[in-house]
Amino acid sequence: MAIYKCFKCGKQISHKALEKRFVCPTCGSKMFFKPRKHIVKIKAV
Ligand SMILES: [Zn+2]
Repeated sequence: MAIYKCFKCGKQISHKALEKRFVCPTCGSKMFFKPRKHIVKIKAV
C-alpha cells in the first residue's frame, strides 16, 4: 500500500483515501509527494 504525504502540512495519507478525493483532509491541499521509504522487492521465479 502506498502512503503519500501532504506537501503543505506533512500529514500522511493512504492512497485509498486519495482515491475518493485527491485532497488533503486536514488542510485541503492538492499537492502530495511520496516518501522514499518504500522498498520494492522483486521476486525472481
Ligand atoms: Zn495537508
